[in-house]
Amino acid sequence: MEPVSAPNAPDAVVVGGGAVGCATAYELTRRGLRVSLVERDGIASHASGFAYGGLYATTGAGIPGPVLPVAKQCLELHRGLADDIRDQTGLDDGFRPARSIEVAFDQRRVDWLKGEARWQLQEGFKVELLDQKGMREIEPRLNPDIIGGALHSSHYEVDSYKYTFGLGWAFEKRGGRIVRSSAVAVTERDGRATGVALSNGETIPAGIVVLATGPWASTDEIPGVRPLPIHASRGEILRLEFPGDDFRSRVTLDSHYIARKPDGLVWVGTTDETVPGFDDRTTEAARASIMEGVLRLAPALEAARLVTQTACLRPVAKDGLPIIGRGGLDGLYLANGAGKKGILLSPAIARMVAALAIDADEAAVPAPFRSGRFAIR
Ligand SMILES: Cc1cc2nc3c(=O)[nH]c(=O)nc-3n(C[C@H](O)[C@H](O)[C@H](O)COP(=O)(O)OP(=O)(O)OC[C@H]3O[C@@H](n4cnc5c(N)ncnc54)[C@H](O)[C@@H]3O)c2cc1C
Repeated sequence: MEPVSAPNAPDAVVVGGGAVGCATAYELTRRGLRVSLVERDGIASHASGFAYGGLYATTGAGIPGPVLPVAKQCLELHRGLADDIRDQTGLDDGFRPARSIEVAFDQRRVDWLKGEARWQLQEGFKVELLDQKGMREIEPRLNPDIIGGALHSSHYEVDSYKYTFGLGWAFEKRGGRIVRSSAVAVTERDGRATGVALSNGETIPAGIVVLATGPWASTDEIPGVRPLPIHASRGEILRLEFPGDDFRSRVTLDSHYIARKPDGLVWVGTTDETVPGFDDRTTEAARASIMEGVLRLAPALEAARLVTQTACLRPVAKDGLPIIGRGGLDGLYLANGAGKKGILLSPAIARMVAALAIDADEAAVPAPFRSGRFAIR
């Protein structure tokens, strides 16, 4: 094994070229470290390249709760990263404000939306309750049985593929190295991580190792690294051709949503299925269930034509919260469990890992997210 201090060796190796790994590699490089990023299938080739790309700080696991302040902070971090990516590479990651409407078919749901709006307004979000007429004015082809909704004006979106790919590209522009291979072991000496061994036979020596391997962290494929209590939740999205200008505001009810993206296609989603074996194939059952849900919201979509169907796997922790922190060896760090919010939360996760690895700042990771809440070694 090569010594950690080999000339030209990186200071850090990040494993996983999804949003979390790319954001972390980029952040470590921005902080002045020499970094290698290891990805076996291609940057953004899994969930991070196919996610909807919503930067919604008002909903999701841990909101309101421990995720909320981090999610709010991420909106500003994304704004800064969009500028960085554009400055470094010329690529526009699609960061933009995006209006959305949560709808209600009955008074119980209207009352619930009112309660949500109360805390959201206190937190500084822009949200307005709409009656049936107000809804129809914004989205005329919604189901007339919808009786009201909440209009959010403090949501943002990115193109998740361009964001993740752009971070990887900006990382390279700052001198980072991307290695296309599989990490097969974390090398160690006297309880300290010393690098990462790859399936191509190379060992990359480094004193800091970050594992951002998404749902695959639930396996024992990297010997010596304990599987994380994470499961793969398969989510599918359909991209539809639907002439007109409707759904410029994303329309949502529970897990179903409809939104026209900048490419002109209407994206509809989604599903949440625990699947064995990292099976990320699309299914007819998911297509049927998504269409059933969104046709209830907008029967006019019956006329839409399916262009693409995608499926990918979210890394969801046992308690639904991110898993960030030490990984059982000195110098080994985990960045995982972002669930349905990994695009939104990735810049903050990256900063937390950098603060831990570079500044030994344990307090940078909120207690509910710390990896130490699970047995990790
Ligand atoms: C349908 C759907 C819609 C979504 N919409 C949103 C949204 O609107 N907003 C939002 O914030 N989030 C959204 N998400 C969630 C988001 O996609 C995930 O939280 C995020 O992509 C997770 O990023 P990650 O980097 O942890 O994992 P991944 O993107 O899975 O990346 C992990 C990478 O690690 C690599 N890897 C694993 N093991 C190894 C190894 N041993 N060696 C080398 N490489 C390895 C894999 O090949 C993979 O590329 C959505 C997810 C789905 C499924």
